[in-house]
Amino acid sequence: MNIHEYQAKELFEKFGVATPQGKVAATAEEAGAAAREIGGPGLVVKAQVHAGGRGKGTFKNGFKGGVHVVDSAEQAQEIAGKMLGQTLVTHQTGPEGKLVSKVLIAKAVDITKEFYFAILFDRASSRHAAIASTEGGMNIEEVAEKTPEKIFKEFIHPTIGLQPYQCRKIAASLGLKGAQAGQAGKLFAALWNLYIKSDCCLVEVNPLAITTEGQVVALDAKFNFDDNALYRQKDISAMRDTTEEDPREVAASEFGLNYIGLDGNIACLVNGAGLAMSTMDIIKIHGGEPANFLDVGGGASKDQVSAAFKIILGDPNVKGILVNIFGGIMDCAIIADGIIAASKEVGLSLPLVVRLEGNNVEAGKKKLDESGLALTSAEGLTDAAQKIVAAVSSAA
Ligand code: ADP
Ligand code: MG
Repeated sequence: MNIHEYQAKELFEKFGVATPQGKVAATAEEAGAAAREIGGPGLVVKAQVHAGGRGKGTFKNGFKGGVHVVDSAEQAQEIAGKMLGQTLVTHQTGPEGKLVSKVLIAKAVDITKEFYFAILFDRASSRHAAIASTEGGMNIEEVAEKTPEKIFKEFIHPTIGLQPYQCRKIAASLGLKGAQAGQAGKLFAALWNLYIKSDCCLVEVNPLAITTEGQVVALDAKFNFDDNALYRQKDISAMRDTTEEDPREVAASEFGLNYIGLDGNIACLVNGAGLAMSTMDIIKIHGGEPANFLDVGGGASKDQVSAAFKIILGDPNVKGILVNIFGGIMDCAIIADGIIAASKEVGLSLPLVVRLEGNNVEAGKKKLDESGLALTSAEGLTDAAQKIVAAVSSAA
């Protein structure tokens, strides 16, 4: 789960991470009032979307920049009015962009230097890691590719946490000395505390800025939380903004389904994550492109299967469906019931290939046969993949 910058700022304040004062606004008038409350002259108006690269982004109506430094509350109000209700396109939003329904008004600071700092779960080493770079405000993937020597990494012990010597080491690697190194170290330690106590997978501050007054402050924030820990992070899960998420994934999470939307046109409904992965692989091997990863789990109910099927059918890119079930705990008859119920409800006109095997398979097949649904049965993975790829390409 991700959150907005204005919400991240609340967490920064709670955990003592230095950041300029800010207020969120949903209308231009609210933005003006927030700006007057914070007090100028230096203010910044920032579009609130779950995507980075806002500063260099462009609105679909041609207005440039999702981050503007302004001199007065009147200007803040005017700029907010230009952003709100508009769609911002950045290198992270995709060409469809993201609708801006809130802006953050924050105190602007005079920046002398921008750094990059992040704490994340590093899957390659199975450890938490702190990452810092002198190249702040830049796209970090690009820095990693072109100038990897400008990126510093410190692994963090899972139980003892980020140690003071490590904070000093990171600050030194950024060229910070004296009081500034001390301030930076304090900020790193506060961020680690926030990261571990809030079950984060990523806390990214880009830029971490040094002001002309010598303060070290977090100017931007990107958070990613471990979805499996949200049950014990009530305050954080309350920050969820489902309008920022893929609507297919939001619907799937309501039904407890493991669903990830992809760009292809062959939808998959599978039980078990491993089988779902192999199903996607085999579709690709036979020249097709999967439209999703979908694992209905081992003990799905008819309602869950039916919901899964409806989510698949609701995706306009889907041109064919492959159901691949190896029933261990999963009862094939339940899968059949779910498919039949959903198809009847929403009407099925797309090619459907079904491969059923395992627990109660005969009953499942019988139900499907008797349902009158136009479907193609398959024996085994290869046969199933070949049949759905052929059906989709002949329909195209
Ligand atoms: P994004 O990464 O989405 O473009 P940022 O929050 O990093 O958004 O803002 C882009 C740039 O705007 C920053 O690199 C920084 O130079 C400037 N900026 C952001 N917040 C402030 C602020 N409070 N004061 C001064 N400049 C800021
Ligand atoms: Mg940024």
